[in-house]
Amino acid sequence: MIVGVLAAGQLGRMMALEGYPLGLRFRFLEPKNDAPASWLAETIEAPYTDPAALQRFSDGLCVATYEFENVPVESAEWIAERVPFYPPPAALGAAQDRLEEKWLFQRLSIPAPSFKAVDSLSDLQAAIEEIGLPGVVKTRRLGYDGKGQSVIRERAQVESVWESLGNSALIYEQFVPFDRELSIIAVRSRHGEIACYPLVQNEHREGILRVSTAPAPDVSPELRAEAEEYARRILEAFEYAGVLTIEFFQRDGALFANEIAPRVHNSGHWTLDGAVVSQFENHLRAIMGLPLGRADAIGHSIMLNLIGAIPPREAVLAVPGAHLHLYDKEPRPRRKVGHITLCGDDPAELRVRAGAVAEFIKGAVCPS
Ligand code: AMP
Repeated sequence: MIVGVLAAGQLGRMMALEGYPLGLRFRFLEPKNDAPASWLAETIEAPYTDPAALQRFSDGLCVATYEFENVPVESAEWIAERVPFYPPPAALGAAQDRLEEKWLFQRLSIPAPSFKAVDSLSDLQAAIEEIGLPGVVKTRRLGYDGKGQSVIRERAQVESVWESLGNSALIYEQFVPFDRELSIIAVRSRHGEIACYPLVQNEHREGILRVSTAPAPDVSPELRAEAEEYARRILEAFEYAGVLTIEFFQRDGALFANEIAPRVHNSGHWTLDGAVVSQFENHLRAIMGLPLGRADAIGHSIMLNLIGAIPPREAVLAVPGAHLHLYDKEPRPRRKVGHITLCGDDPAELRVRAGAVAEFIKGAVCPS
C-alpha cells in the first residue's frame, strides 16, 4: 500500500519513518532535489503542477496527502478526483489565505484578533483607524516563519510598511499582547473519530518556533476543553481527515486563534518521543480510516528546534533522555535542520536538562 505525499520535507520524512511499521510504502512529489524525505522513498522530482508528474504520482496510491502548506490547491483537487486525498483541499485553501482563515474563525464563532482586508494604502489607513495601533500587517498568502509580516506601532511606519509589503494582498490585524502562545494538535479519522493532544506552549524568536513545552503548564480543564471544541468545529466543518493544528494566543485566560495548519506541525514533534502515538502515525491512521491511537502525553516533554546549525551529536546524546532528530538538511541561516526532545516525569528537572542541551544549540531559547 503506497501513500502519496506532496512535498518531501522533514514532515514527510518523519511521516514515512512512522508509517513503515504500519506496513506502508511512500511516494513523494517534490520540486527540489535532495529533499529530506527523498532518501527514504521513491521521489518524483517535478513541479507540483506538472500534469505528467501528477499522473505518475497518483498511479496506484491507496491515499494521498501533503506535508507542505503551499502546494497548489488545483493540484490537490486534481489528485482528489482520482484517489482519496486528505486533508480535504478546501481546508488547504482556507489555510493558504489569511483572510479566508479569519472568515472561517468568524463563521465558526472561534475568537480571533480583529482584522481588515487591505488592498491599498488608504485601506491600511482606514484599518488602523478602525482597529487601532499597534497592529500587524500580514500578506494574505505565502507568509510563514515570520516572513511577510510587519508590526506597526506608530503612524510614521505606515508608508514604509506599505512600500515593503504593499505589492501583495494584505490583512491588518489587531496586535495581541499575549501572555503566551499555545497550540492544539487534533486528528480526525475518515470515520469521524477525533483525538486531541494536550495543549502545547510555544516560544518563537524572529517568527520561528524555538521551543515547545508539552503538556503546556497551568492549563485548566476548561481551557483545554475550549481549545478542543474549536478544533472539533473546524474538523467537522471540513469533514476533515488527518492532523489539524490551531495556534492560539492566550491573554488573561482567553484564547484567540492565530492560524491553522492543516497538517502535521512543528509544535507536535514532541509526540514522537513523548506521546502514546505520534502525530505522524495518527495522521496516517486517520487518512487511511484506521482506528486512531491514543493522543495522551507520557509524562512531560520539551522540544528544542535546531535552527541554522547542528550541534555536536556526542554532546547532545550525552544528556540523559535526549532524543536527537536530524533532517539531513544543509545548515543555513533560519533553516530548521532538526530538533531535540527531552522527556521526563518532573517538569522542573526537565527544564534543567533542557538548559544543558540548549548550551550546545546556537540561538537556543530556554523554555520559560
Ligand atoms: P504567524 O505567521 O501569523 O504565525 O506569526 C508568527 C508570530 O508572530 C506568531 O507566532 C506571534 O509570535 C507573532 N504574531 C503574529 N500575529 C500576531 C498578533 N496579531 N499579535 C501579536 N503577535 C503576533
